[in-house]
Amino acid sequence: MCYMEYDVVIAGGGASGMMAAALFAGSGLKVALVEKNGQCGRKLLLTGKGRCNMTNACQWEDFREHVHPDPGFFRPSFMGFSNRDTVEMFASMGLQTAVERGKRVFPVSGRSADVRDALLSRITGAGNVDILYNCEVMSVLRSPSGHFVVEILHSGDRMRMDEIVAPYVIVATGGLSYPVTGSTGDGYRIARSLGHTVTATVPSLVALVPVSYNLSLSGLTLRNVSLSLMVDGGEVQTEFGELTFTSDGLEGALGFRVSRRAVMALEEGKKVEAVIDLKPAVPVTELKARVEREFTPGIQLSRYLERFLPLQAVKPFMDANPSLNIQNLPVRLKCWKLQIKGHAGYRRAVITAGGVSLREISRKTMESKSVRGLYFIGEVLNLDADTGGYNLQIAFSTAAAAVRAVAAAGPISL
Ligand SMILES: Cc1cc2nc3c(=O)[nH]c(=O)nc-3n(C[C@H](O)[C@H](O)[C@H](O)COP(=O)(O)OP(=O)(O)OC[C@H]3O[C@@H](n4cnc5c(N)ncnc54)[C@H](O)[C@@H]3O)c2cc1C
Repeated sequence: MCYMEYDVVIAGGGASGMMAAALFAGSGLKVALVEKNGQCGRKLLLTGKGRCNMTNACQWEDFREHVHPDPGFFRPSFMGFSNRDTVEMFASMGLQTAVERGKRVFPVSGRSADVRDALLSRITGAGNVDILYNCEVMSVLRSPSGHFVVEILHSGDRMRMDEIVAPYVIVATGGLSYPVTGSTGDGYRIARSLGHTVTATVPSLVALVPVSYNLSLSGLTLRNVSLSLMVDGGEVQTEFGELTFTSDGLEGALGFRVSRRAVMALEEGKKVEAVIDLKPAVPVTELKARVEREFTPGIQLSRYLERFLPLQAVKPFMDANPSLNIQNLPVRLKCWKLQIKGHAGYRRAVITAGGVSLREISRKTMESKSVRGLYFIGEVLNLDADTGGYNLQIAFSTAAAAVRAVAAAGPISL
């Protein structure tokens, strides 16, 4: 067993851990970034379909609407390191960004690898941060003298346990989504072992699976439709935009936007339905008038439907509406009901909702209120957001808040 001393241990080299390490670079503090994979930022590479939607350029008033469950908790860290700071920091590292539709910010190169590499080059350039690859944080113990003992398992050539002693530990192990990238909920175990509460977690921004899902819909995107989420018969959310059907179920902007509430309702055993309005901008009276004008007896209903639906959707739509006829068509076009039986799970979820309870964490510094020197940043917290670059900004801002606090407190001799 090897014994090492550092000022700061960052557990997890994902988006938040790398940002924290990059902000510590040149600080004079001796920092260990401990990553269980053989590379950092495996999830970051997948973000934005490989293009990395690294933040969203909207104002806080809009930004906050996309943060769950407590945007007020996130406000101080956002104010301390905002979307603008993200853009400026990457620009200072030579990575230019562009704002796209919906104020989504992407690297101009269109490569998420460039975002990771910019952070890595800042981290390794200063000389005060060591990256320990293939090292899994197994436990974080508090010693009687007040510092932390971090037990790490090397998964490289030979399995070996080592210990790092440090006065500060930053837990940046992510949540449970896309476990193949390394986020397997280890931070929750660490948090609990140090007396923290972890609120129930569910996959969010995840495909919703309809009952008797017609796989022939897979690959279809419906544009300019609206999707209403019904829970136990009552409408709880309506969104307008693009809905994509994949082999897993309902996805795309609309599917993802309603998924958080849908999954939570499913977990509570409630009846969940997704209702698609294929013509949200056209009142039913207008549709009726159009049908009366256009439809002549000789036309097959399925052929006529092609005027309202992509060919791929015609049969599934008819199957879902067995009593469909020309009289009820206008109403049915505005009310294609799919009962939801489940979701694609953490394996395919973009984010984990739930996590380390925010009540036990300082909103200014991300420090534990009960364990001095212990910090939680990124997805491990009970903080998540919609698609659009908001989740990475949460990772970056919470990382910056913790780094500011640790740097201000300075080194503590062991
Ligand atoms: C497919 C996909 C696309 C996405 N696209 C976007 C997007 O475009 N924009 C956006 O804002 N958000 C996006 N997200 C969400 C975003 O990736 C996350 O919010 C963000 O990565 C969270 O950062 P994190 O550092 O908290 O966790 P992670 O990035 O998950 O990093 C956690 C790290 O900790 C390591 N680790 C875990 N346990 C241990 C341990 N015991 N010891 C050592 N290391 C450990 C893991 O290996 C991992 O490297 C996407 C997510 C997915 C899955």
